[in-house]
Amino acid sequence: MKLNYIAGKWIAGESSTRNINPANTKDIIGEYTKASVDQVNEAVAAAKAAFASWSIYNIQARSEMLDRISKAILARKEELGELLAREEGKSLPEAIGEVGRAAQVFQYFSGEVLQMRGDYQPSIRPGLDIQVSREALGVIGIITPWNFPIAIPAWKIAPALAYGNCVVFKPADLVPASAHALAEIIVEAGVPEGVFNLVMGAGRSVGETIINHKDIAGISFTGSQGIGQHIAVTAAKRMAKIQLEMGGKNPLVILDDADLNQAVDVAINGAFFSTGQRCTASSRIIVTEGIYDAFIKAFEERTRALVVGDPLKAGTQIGPVSSESQFKQNLEYVNSGLKEGATLICGGEAVIRETDGYFMTPAIFTEVRPDMRICREEIFGPVACVLKVKTYEEALVMANDTEFGLSSGICTQSLKYASHFKQHSQAGMVMVNVPTAGVDYHVPFGGRKGSSFGSREQGSYAREFYTSVKTSYTLA
Ligand code: NAD
Repeated sequence: MKLNYIAGKWIAGESSTRNINPANTKDIIGEYTKASVDQVNEAVAAAKAAFASWSIYNIQARSEMLDRISKAILARKEELGELLAREEGKSLPEAIGEVGRAAQVFQYFSGEVLQMRGDYQPSIRPGLDIQVSREALGVIGIITPWNFPIAIPAWKIAPALAYGNCVVFKPADLVPASAHALAEIIVEAGVPEGVFNLVMGAGRSVGETIINHKDIAGISFTGSQGIGQHIAVTAAKRMAKIQLEMGGKNPLVILDDADLNQAVDVAINGAFFSTGQRCTASSRIIVTEGIYDAFIKAFEERTRALVVGDPLKAGTQIGPVSSESQFKQNLEYVNSGLKEGATLICGGEAVIRETDGYFMTPAIFTEVRPDMRICREEIFGPVACVLKVKTYEEALVMANDTEFGLSSGICTQSLKYASHFKQHSQAGMVMVNVPTAGVDYHVPFGGRKGSSFGSREQGSYAREFYTSVKTSYTLA
């Protein structure tokens, strides 16, 4: 059985969870222990005790540690990619790519360790000088979802450690294997006792203990909107700092002047890759009427040709849905779209493959009305809604007509519309002629409205959450 890592030791918890391959439910990846509430408290105490020395730990040594983590991840890229594909279900190339991203993130933050920049300013009072500096926040609770089992943990753990914080990390219950492998690498890199703790288990016990703990100074969470809102309310009661990355209902606008092939590539990638299980997935495709018929024809053809199957098999483009509950939910959304009067032009069906798994064909709905559930709620599966509009102006209004605001996209050859969209789209990330999903690691990641709360993740913007600002006055 795979164990938790608490206060410098690998420890068994009170129960365990079985990690099952969603492409082959007979393939058991392993048994993973679940931490008890007492063990989570021990992890927080160990992190608190380690903070004093870790926050002032030599920055060269800390930087080298993160670099070692990056190199160790890269050295095991293929093996970890296979593990990730087996537990989460994304295709092997996507899974290996995700592991590579985790390595890049650690490498980036090994450099950021040396960038704890401050400010020096003269005072309005004679003889005084002012220093504005940044300090580590304290113990950070990190809570992650199942859809990026190694990249999301990496982009939270790396900055937390880089800026001198200690970590209590709870991965999603569904996908503990990649998180556990990452923890092993972090431990092998020589991170001191207590600085990094892994507590696997359920949200309602392990997660609740973290978010309610008085010694957790900051919570970085990625997951659903409902749990994010619950964390916001809980953390507000004790004034803990929070960073919440939640759902999306991301629009992709396709204008008459778009390059048709490029627009179809962008839509296919954004809507269906990773089985649509990306917070940045394109789920509302808004198309102007001049290109509508040609786009639908090509989009449908390409969607029907997508290969759904075993993520480990060469040629598979769309793996299974990651869990039985998500699978059922996707099919329920397909039903709800039909009941509300949308037209299902292809896909949306459960399909049988050689092994027992949660396979479904990617679905396209047309004749979608903006008030339908499939057009308003995050589905988190391979289901795309297409909406027809007359003008760019109408498309923009429709794109912004959502409670979410994570990413958005437009396909156009017009500089005028591209610039206008970049300025007026109510999303944290705007893409022109590229999929709504797919980001760089050295620039801010995050959204607006109901998608995100708190400061941005990734790149140097991560410093905002993981550090606290201090203003010191000195009379010389
Ligand atoms: P989820 O909210 O169910 O779970 C996320 C994490 O929170 C898990 O580790 C879970 O165990 C934990 N959790 C559950 N209840 C908790 C509680 N009461 N207290 C503390 N922790 C608790 O989300 P999920 O199903 O794992 O992931 C899918 C969601 O994640 C989607 O909504 C998707 O949009 C979102 N997501 C967002 C981003 C982003 O950056 N915006 C990225 C990836 C996924």
